[in-house]
Order: sequence, then structure tokens, then C-alpha cells
Amino acid sequence: MYHVVADPPSDAPYPALYVSGKAFAGQMRWLARHGYHAVTLSAVSDHWRLGRRLPAHPIVVSFDDGYRSQFATAAPVLRRRRWPGVINLAVRNTTDFWGLPPARVRLLIAAGWEVAAHSLTHPDLTTVSAEQLRHEVAGSRAALRRMFHVPVDFFCYPAGRLDDRVVAAVQAAGYLGATTTAYGLARPADMFRLARVRVDRSDGVEGLAAKLEALRATR
Ligand SMILES: [Zn+2]
Repeated sequence: MYHVVADPPSDAPYPALYVSGKAFAGQMRWLARHGYHAVTLSAVSDHWRLGRRLPAHPIVVSFDDGYRSQFATAAPVLRRRRWPGVINLAVRNTTDFWGLPPARVRLLIAAGWEVAAHSLTHPDLTTVSAEQLRHEVAGSRAALRRMFHVPVDFFCYPAGRLDDRVVAAVQAAGYLGATTTAYGLARPADMFRLARVRVDRSDGVEGLAAKLEALRATR
């Protein structure tokens, strides 16, 4: 789980959400050298549901919200390895000046990336009305499908906030699964509460390597 792939400005409210481009490139190099292959969430889901083949050591490289650095800095690193990313796109971030305009999202899709929904306006979904919940969850799927003509089969809970009511709304909107900010390996038994590995600014290459090696040992 990545957010901004850049160095944080000195006034950044959440500097931990930034991973430098150099660290990101080093982390992807480490993954490739250790036999990992990036895949989409759809490929994982097709493997679990339909038995489709996955490469050895599959890993989903996901990017939350939609930031310009994900296109400008992360995408070229992945493209060199012909690896896809998964962009958990909040619809509002397609119009913000620091976000990802639709033309750039289309280039990511052309490079093999998967688009997943991350709501319209990124609210804490556990606190909104039933009507707004449906609007944010089903509406973001419809908006992204209309904009990009791709399936949009996965949802990512804004700020990792979810409860049973939110999960039910995601299921009702027809998604196949949803990602959280819970730490760990994603498992098919928890399709609507898929765990992820947050990559922190302080991790560098060694930190991510240590996290993945520790998780692999628990598998
Ligand atoms: Zn987010």
C-alpha cells in the first residue's frame, strides 16, 4: 500500500504517507530480485475464484487516492518491469490539481493498471447516512466505469474505515472484494476485508524486505 511516491514537503501533514521515488524503485528492484511478480487484484481474485494461474510470489502494488506522483514517478518504474499497479482512485482526485486527471488514468490503464474505487469524496463511511453511503460506494463504481470503460470490481475503504454496514454496501454495489488498511496478507476467506502491507517512509528497501519475509514465514 503506497500513497504519495515523492519526498514530503516540510509542511506535509502526513509525512509518513510519502515514499521517495528512489526508495520505491529500490523496493521494486528488491521484489523482482526475490522472485516476486506484480499482478492486479483481478488476477488474484480470478485465481482464487476460478483457479486461473498466477506467477510465483504474486504481489499487488496498490496506490491509494490518486496522486500525480503515482503517474509521474511510480508508473515508469513499474513499466520498466512490465508490472501493473492498482490505483485505488477517489473520484474527487481526478479533478484536484494534485490528483490524477482522467487522461493520465487512461495511460495507466493502457499500461495494464487496474482501477479500483475509493469512494467519491473520501469520507469516513462509518459516519455517513445510508443514502450517502450508497452514493459514495455504488456511485464511485458507476462514475469510474463511465469515465474509463473498465470493470472496477474492487473497492478500497477510505482511511481504512469500515463496519458491517459499510461492508454490506460494498457487497450490494456488486464489487468482488475490498481492501483495508489492516496489516497482513490478503486471504480469499476475507474478500471484503483484504489485508495489506503499508509501506512507510521509514521502511526503505530493508524495512519492506523484513515485513515481507516475516509475513511469508507466517503463511
Ligand atoms: Zn485514501
